[in-house]
Parts: sequence; C-alpha cells; structure tokens
Amino acid sequence: MAASGDEIETLIATMARLPGLGPRSARRVVLHLIRRRTGQMAQLASLMASVAENARECLVCGNVTGSDICPICTDPARATGEICVVTEVADLWALERGRAFRGRYHVLGGSLSALDEIGPDDLRIPQLLERLSDERITEVILALSATVEGQTTAHYIAEALAPSGVAVTGLAQGVPIGGELDYLDDGTITAALRARRKL
Ligand SMILES: [Zn+2]
Repeated sequence: MAASGDEIETLIATMARLPGLGPRSARRVVLHLIRRRTGQMAQLASLMASVAENARECLVCGNVTGSDICPICTDPARATGEICVVTEVADLWALERGRAFRGRYHVLGGSLSALDEIGPDDLRIPQLLERLSDERITEVILALSATVEGQTTAHYIAEALAPSGVAVTGLAQGVPIGGELDYLDDGTITAALRARRKL
C-alpha cells in the first residue's frame, strides 16, 4: 500500500511533538528516512514495534528495560549495599552514562505534591522501604530535584528511613537535578555524587 501524502504529513506532525524535535527537524528526519525507507527506516520501524511490545518497568527498581528485572538489579557486582533514589528513569540513565555510581537504583516515578495530590503510595516509596532488608542496604543516596517538591520528597524519605538506621545522603547542594540530570555533563554528575552529604 502506497503511503498517502496525508500519512506522511501525519508522520511529520507526530514526530514534531517528540522532545527535542520541532516541525522543521521533523520534516528533515522524515525526508531522510523516506530516502532510506528499505534500510534505516524499515529497521527503525521494526525496532520501534519490538520495543513497544517488550519494554517494561523493572519490578525491583523501576528502570525501563526489556526484561522483568533489569540488568543492574541482576548484576551481583552491583549489590554494594547502596541505593541511589532518583525521580525519573531519565535520571537513572544519566547517572549510568556518567559511570560514577556502581550500586543500584530506585526510581520513584515522580515527586510528592499536595497540589497534584501525589502521595507516598503514588510513588514507589513503599517498594523502597521493602528493599532495605531484602538487599541489606547500608546507604540510600537521594539524587532528587532541588525544587520544593523534590526537597519535600527527600525529607519524607529521610524520615521514613530514620528508624532503619540506614545512612541517608544527598547530592551536593546547588546541582539542578530531577529530570534535569540528563542535561548535566558526566563530570558534574560525578562531582555531585562524590560530594554527597549526610541528610
Ligand atoms: Zn532494576
């Protein structure tokens, strides 16, 4: 079946809504792909269909992966007793890119917000508490946003963890994080991790 002009326009309009793309880039990308429709475009289409079918959240940490438990959670070398708590999966991927942290992660999936009626049970906070004894955790590093919601979340978790005796630390102050970790260069992320402080 031949693609109609409408279909191509719809593809451009859909691509234009992707993060980092606008109408101009979307047109360029679509034209680039159409010129390689039997190669790169076919490969991309089949990869997208496969990822759409198989991508899921890791049952332990919330990372997005192709299996029920992600490679970080299954790697015994990463059972260091440290868990780094992040707001979003993008933060986890940014930290992994920097290779500064060799423990495991926990993705909250958002921040506490009275305004948006997001409470502890809407985030993956109960699951975090369960992991403490299951994985013999000794330190929880809160790599959360410097926003009011991020700090409210950090304080809530620090208090919830207090009875456990686990060390709770935060990244160096002044680092804009929480969904924005992805925009930091790897050196800054590494420095922020090294300069973590007790909460
Ligand atoms: Zn995982």
